[in-house]
Amino acid sequence: PGVAPGFFDMFVLAFAERLFRPTFRKKLGEGAFGVVCKASLANPEAAEKVKANGVMQGDVVVKKATEYGAVEIWMNERVRRACASSCADFLYGFRESKAKGKGAEEYWLIWRFEGEDTLYDLMQSKEFPYNVETKILGDVQDLPKGISRENKIIQTVMRQLLFALDGLHSTGIVHRDIKPQNVIFSEGSRTFKIIDLGAAADLRVGINYIPKEFLLDPRYAAPEQYIMSTQTPSAPSVPVATTLSPVLWQLNLPDRFDIYSLGLIFLQMAFPSLRTDSNLIQFNRQLKRCDYDLEAWRNLVEPRANAELRRGFDIMDLDDGIGWELLTSMVRYKARQRISAKAALAHPYFNREGLLGLSVMQ
Ligand code: ADP
Ligand code: MG
Repeated sequence: PGVAPGFFDMFVLAFAERLFRPTFRKKLGEGAFGVVCKASLANPEAAEKVKANGVMQGDVVVKKATEYGAVEIWMNERVRRACASSCADFLYGFRESKAKGKGAEEYWLIWRFEGEDTLYDLMQSKEFPYNVETKILGDVQDLPKGISRENKIIQTVMRQLLFALDGLHSTGIVHRDIKPQNVIFSEGSRTFKIIDLGAAADLRVGINYIPKEFLLDPRYAAPEQYIMSTQTPSAPSVPVATTLSPVLWQLNLPDRFDIYSLGLIFLQMAFPSLRTDSNLIQFNRQLKRCDYDLEAWRNLVEPRANAELRRGFDIMDLDDGIGWELLTSMVRYKARQRISAKAALAHPYFNREGLLGLSVMQ
């Protein structure tokens, strides 16, 4: 749907070819199925034409994807209609018409350039989470630094991410690749948005295909391998609709896969020592050995915790341990025991407002 090239596609393609390619300034990522670049419409005359068609203005992000781009375009169009604020603004997607026998199809996807920083970039800084506070509020708060203030900032990020995830899940979409690298800070709305629907599944209409080559990111993946019916279509280049009803959604609770991943992001925000890849991998090994019981993990590491780890527990223990309670209800072995995004938003962790006067942060 919406990916067959028409007159307008040819129009945009001409500009994609002529204008994006020579003005690629910065490669932002190179996933298994495409290359992502920041681009701008350098030629003012062409930019005017494009703007006149209401398609884009300012900097954009262009992803050139392989045949699986069809699914990603489908997901982005669905998000734009149903829960636009959850994800980066999708501007346009189309299939590149290639001469016969020239290999696999190629798809182009274009989004608004939301900003320079992913949550991953921001978490790499020593300043985290204060660098996020500055971004969200626009200025630095004249308040003492400390765990209460940090907790407030983390709370704000979690609320924004749960809100975005609830939007996707209510639409029937499971993301399946939630990680800090796939969360972008939108300078325009001053909120975090989810990106990269390349591995997403839409269960309401049964678009449910992960290419064989796609590996779930093991650092953030929940323990369950199959989050839906394993009867995925074999290798379509366009989405194939099967019938999966809301009843099946209820039965399998595939949305809880994303909740587990977001739980790990929550953990990384609170525990500076778990922000590096190697420590996250080590954490995953420890948690597995504890049969995915966070409480057991805590009992294992807390007695010999260094100052950094101690600080993480102290943040989670604020307000009678309400943060720890939310965290443990997200990171659980059994999907059906994990809290939903909607229920998490109503969790008392988010109800304690006004601490240190940071209640203006939505
Ligand atoms: P993949 O992971 O498949 O390479 P992504 O869609 O995750 O592709 O994009 C790769 C990187 O490009 C992201 O991690 C982010 O740094 C950047 N990026 C993607 N979309 C946007 C956007 N709308 N605005 C700003 N940066 C983006
Ligand atoms: Mg990505």
